[in-house]
Amino acid sequence: MTSKICRFLNEQHPSSPCLVVDLDVIAENYDKLRTYLPVADIYYAVKANPAREVVAHLISLGSNFDVASPAEIDLCLSCGVRPASISYGNTIKKQGDIAYAYERGIRLFAFDSEAEVQKLAAAAPGSQVFCRILVDNAGAEWPLSRKFGCDVEMAVDLLKFARKMGLDPYGVAFHVGSQQTDLTQWDVAVGKTAMLFTALNEAGIELKLVNLGGGFPAQYRSEVDGLEVYCAAVMNAMTKHFRNNLPTMILEPGRSLVGDSGVLQAEVVLISRKSYQEETRWIYLDVGRFGGLAETENECIKYRIVTPDVDGAMGPVILAGPTCDSADILYERAGYEMPLDLKIGDRVHILSTGAYTASYSSVNFNGFAPLRSYFI
Ligand SMILES: *Cc1c(COP(=O)(O)O)cnc(C)c1O
Repeated sequence: MTSKICRFLNEQHPSSPCLVVDLDVIAENYDKLRTYLPVADIYYAVKANPAREVVAHLISLGSNFDVASPAEIDLCLSCGVRPASISYGNTIKKQGDIAYAYERGIRLFAFDSEAEVQKLAAAAPGSQVFCRILVDNAGAEWPLSRKFGCDVEMAVDLLKFARKMGLDPYGVAFHVGSQQTDLTQWDVAVGKTAMLFTALNEAGIELKLVNLGGGFPAQYRSEVDGLEVYCAAVMNAMTKHFRNNLPTMILEPGRSLVGDSGVLQAEVVLISRKSYQEETRWIYLDVGRFGGLAETENECIKYRIVTPDVDGAMGPVILAGPTCDSADILYERAGYEMPLDLKIGDRVHILSTGAYTASYSSVNFNGFAPLRSYFI
């Protein structure tokens, strides 16, 4: 909790629940990435927090942008992003959406399949394209599974096919999984990437770009290494596998740029027990899985949660949201504890909620409005 957010909450008394984002934290994280990984260009993954205020702030800092849809393209362009600073990184695009991007000047696209190369050749002729490869997401708290990427053998053929189709086979991308805690994953992924560079070189294609994706962490319940440690791991992997022949490097941070900038203020709606024997209290908040805390699914992302109005002895709790869906339970097995003196109406602060929250909140489920956000 920054002093700026603390002051805002104490002076403005916004109604609950709400998300307060401190833009200074985003700037600090951006500066850290620039400092510790100066050779990489930063493409902010817009989906992490697509608020205009965040995009505009990142433009002022000099960021580029990774988008996934026409609406994210419109958002960026209307905030003043130049088309040359946009990468259309989604591997799953309608051909009409590719054409939409191309008409607006975007020339950098991702793919991971033959059919997508065909769409790109038809709707974005001559564009720079990069192939996303499948990498093991072990160690990631929010893994991206096998949904994205293809294996290296297929990637070789697809990049050659892209050339044949009149596209510019420009590079390779991967994403090691979001909130990745295992630093060796970058070494493995960069090693695969370097193999691909070599294989294509032998076919007369000189790739120029490595897109290192996201995966850098925010500060949730378990301690993580600092961004400088992550940047060093990435740089070590790059120099180990590419030696002094470093290609252009792109980083697509989402979570690590905006996660720690937000505090979600919520309120206790109900405290109850399920029987006279059970010690564990059920604590129902006015925000839950459908109000922005979607990443508590399977209790994957474990936010730090504090109670600013109460302290003292703690006891075990199950935390749940306010809707009438039984999936709207935040933490049942993760071992959360809260003060025994906590009362209905008390405030609860859920920390590091700047990424993947507001944009995940449902439109109107059970009549609950989408999560309100303030940017200060
Ligand atoms: C979501 C996404 C990112 C951001 O990942 P984080 O782990 O939040 O940093 C980067 N690149 C692509 C292609 C993505 O889909």
